[in-house]
Amino acid sequence: MMRTELKQAATLTLLGSTGSIGESTLAVVREVDNLSIFALSANRNVDKLLAQCLEFSPRYAVLCDPSLPHERRDEFSRALHERGCKTELLLGAGALEEVASAAEVDMVMAAIVGAAGLASTLAAAKAGKRLLLANKEALVMTGDILLDAARQSGATLLPIDSEHNAIFQCLPTVPEGVDSSQLTFVEKIVLTASGGPFLRTPLDQFAAITPAQACAHPVWSMGDKISIDSATMMNKGLEYIEACYLFGLPSAKVEVVIHPQSVVHSMVHYDDGSVLAQMASPDMRVPIAHCLAWPQRIKTQAPRLDLTQQAALEFYAPDIDRFPCLALGMEAAKVSGTAPALLNAANEVAVASFLSGALDYLGIAAVNAEVMAQMPCEAATSLAIIHEADARARDLASALIKKRIL
Ligand code: NAD
Ligand code: MG
Repeated sequence: MMRTELKQAATLTLLGSTGSIGESTLAVVREVDNLSIFALSANRNVDKLLAQCLEFSPRYAVLCDPSLPHERRDEFSRALHERGCKTELLLGAGALEEVASAAEVDMVMAAIVGAAGLASTLAAAKAGKRLLLANKEALVMTGDILLDAARQSGATLLPIDSEHNAIFQCLPTVPEGVDSSQLTFVEKIVLTASGGPFLRTPLDQFAAITPAQACAHPVWSMGDKISIDSATMMNKGLEYIEACYLFGLPSAKVEVVIHPQSVVHSMVHYDDGSVLAQMASPDMRVPIAHCLAWPQRIKTQAPRLDLTQQAALEFYAPDIDRFPCLALGMEAAKVSGTAPALLNAANEVAVASFLSGALDYLGIAAVNAEVMAQMPCEAATSLAIIHEADARARDLASALIKKRIL
């Protein structure tokens, strides 16, 4: 097997190791000789976390869900001990912040889904780590607060989201990250979107869409929440907000284009007419390896792109009637302040309700739109203001869902 090595040995905390990004990260780590794992974390998937600990022998494993029965935790610790694995089990969400900021850690992969990843992502940023950001919801909610924390501590923030990673690869960089002095020459950035499973589904069939249909993404295999977000294109709406913050661009300079093949991961248009795009097979090991090794390159087992064998690449303007959540995201990026946090919170509640059968598919966009219409936005000057907005949007979304007749 091909082995690969980082220029400098490093230690990684992987938050959300049992998820889709978590597993892809471990698939890359497995091939790297001098990258060791400090901590792995799961919400409640004891069996998968155990298997990962036995393979990677991290110093710590974190189980977050407070409702996990004591017996399951005890079984976990006993199984580690019996196999001679020295990994120590930590419990509760607070432990995530500890393992994200510990002095021994060089890099943190933030791959928890949703607002649950916010505190640990912020802790890694404050502690000056190389922060590999998959948890887009954390940045969507906090925007400049997270970016300022990273700037002040000297943390390097690298985007794992394939679109943002593509843009990062197409922008001029300095050792700290994107060279912001060169951004004046960027005319616009274009985020590509696959369009998800319902790109061509007749609109009159949308009301009957089931969670299983919505989770069956034609190109990417991902966790449930982001799969639903890809079906509604809320994911692209969140990515739109993410792009404005990450690259310090006004929303007028960010565009979305539908590209069903997901080969061109995004593009940067420059003032002189040049367009730089990053291409790869749709496989998250590519952006993950890029961020782990940046500015170096390491090998991955991702399938190689062969354009001669590739179906024709198509690009279309998005249809906002089909994807109202995309428009909501673009609007929230423009309004800024607490608007992205409100939208994110409403959407997390709506998606969870859809997945549990308490809300119909069309209800997701309806609830998100109603929360945005009813709730006032304010300047997002503190974490307290953001948490307050998040909580109120969740309450309103839950109330709307209870009232909605399926
Ligand atoms: P997933 O559902 O597969 O995994 C989520 C991980 O977070 C799991 O390890 C789970 O145990 C943990 N988790 C869930 N709830 C938690 C809680 N309350 N407290 C602590 N841990 C919790 O999700 P995913 O698809 O790997 O996505 C992770 C993040 O990466 C999301 O923010 C997503 O938007 C982003 N992302 C994913 C992909 C992808 O290809 N999967 C691509 C781009 C960005
Ligand atoms: Mg993406």
